Amino acid sequence: SDNRARMMRSTDPYLRERLHDFDDLAYRLLRQLMGRGHSLLDGFEGQDAILVAHNMGAAELLDYRGASLRGLVLEEGTPTSHAVIVAKALGIPVIGQATGINSLIANGDDIIVDGDEGQVQLRPQPDVQDAYAAKLKFQAKRQARYRELRNEPAVTVDGTPIRMNMNAGLIFDLPQLEESGADGIGLFRTEVQFMVSSTLPRQERQQKLYREVLKAANGKPVTFRTLDVGGDKILPYMRAAHEENPALGMRAVRIALERPGLMKAQLRALLRAAAGQELRIMLPMITLLSEVESVRRILDDEVRHLTTHGHKVPNIIRLGIMLEVPSMLWQLDDLMANVDFVSVGSNDLFQFIMAVDRQNTQLAGHFDELSRPFLRVLRRIAEAAGRHDTELTLCGEMAGRPLSAMALLALGYRSLSMSSASIGPVKAMVMSLDLPKLEDKLLPALDAGHLDTLTIRELLSDFTAEHGVSLD
Ligand code: PEP
Ligand code: MG
Repeated sequence: SDNRARMMRSTDPYLRERLHDFDDLAYRLLRQLMGRGHSLLDGFEGQDAILVAHNMGAAELLDYRGASLRGLVLEEGTPTSHAVIVAKALGIPVIGQATGINSLIANGDDIIVDGDEGQVQLRPQPDVQDAYAAKLKFQAKRQARYRELRNEPAVTVDGTPIRMNMNAGLIFDLPQLEESGADGIGLFRTEVQFMVSSTLPRQERQQKLYREVLKAANGKPVTFRTLDVGGDKILPYMRAAHEENPALGMRAVRIALERPGLMKAQLRALLRAAAGQELRIMLPMITLLSEVESVRRILDDEVRHLTTHGHKVPNIIRLGIMLEVPSMLWQLDDLMANVDFVSVGSNDLFQFIMAVDRQNTQLAGHFDELSRPFLRVLRRIAEAAGRHDTELTLCGEMAGRPLSAMALLALGYRSLSMSSASIGPVKAMVMSLDLPKLEDKLLPALDAGHLDTLTIRELLSDFTAEHGVSLD
């Protein structure tokens, strides 16, 4: 229709994501009207299938749960589009922005999707197929080795215990808690439920999800991060004012304090879901400690409200923050003394310290998370947490990269939270690391000038080679 064409031309991500949801719905309706089954994989039952599409909605992808969908290739699809987020949560390799691929491929063609490398092989020659088969076999072997580590405690060679938590955001992530042997969920991104839904999830739906998460965690601690939307995380049904710099804009806890209705509903859902248990709440993008106090007042009100209406509330409520805005670095002692725990959001902290947009592919790899300035920042945070005996975790992507995780341990981090797939490799590193030896080598080098010595990355890889630290 005209509307569709107009929306398609729009460069506004809200409208475009909206349109995909319409297309999704229209497509599903059409299939129903034609009396066909509702799976695109009809005719391919029992075979492994890879879906190649222009784009698709998250809801449609959920129809394939349990089907033999082995990969997804989309002409559009950015890392933050709903279908891509859901596919990743389902463990399906996905490639986005494969422009023009639909015109190059026919139904039933052989195709290989390499999600790690972001590569698609169309009608691969036998030698390419063999190479990928070998790669898969190798990976399966490695996975089996990690599975064996699942029930081993994560302790370094010198006997330092490390807490290994996983990050999650959807109900499909939860089986991984058991599978990976993680100690708990260090970061539950509550906004993912909002991002994959085509309408705003009301309190009951939120509460239902949180209850399921706590049930699946079976006593392991879960840290729920309150809604972290805005910035690169867009909700199609929540129209916000246009912003030149959304990463520095009205996002996360800033929205919550501006429109407390949303936060109140979420806190109520969390309080009710965790009735009679421990509840851990984490606030994203805190810039000033006064924001924590404002949220604490809302939280106290909600607890009072529930109690006066005869509802049970959690036994213990712990309120912590994500440390991801540099302003926090000049109020570390105040911070550590006034919250129950702190988790470093290194994805955002790196972006703001180094002035590098985390979404900008041109800059990817230009600046190193293992460079001296950033590691010195991370060390100061760990020292402050140590002074106040405040629980400290780091939950950005660097926690899941073995070499970076190794550096974090030397800086004083004893708890990490990462995607479930990283638990095995990082645990293997932990179990082969002599931590005091690494500290002796890394800490003096951190204070040295950059012309005097190797880069920290070089120093760390030399150390792993010399001391046989596991790094795959
Ligand atoms: C981070 O910023 O490091 C983080 C873990 O949060 P997110 O990636 O969801 O912004
Ligand atoms: Mg963040």
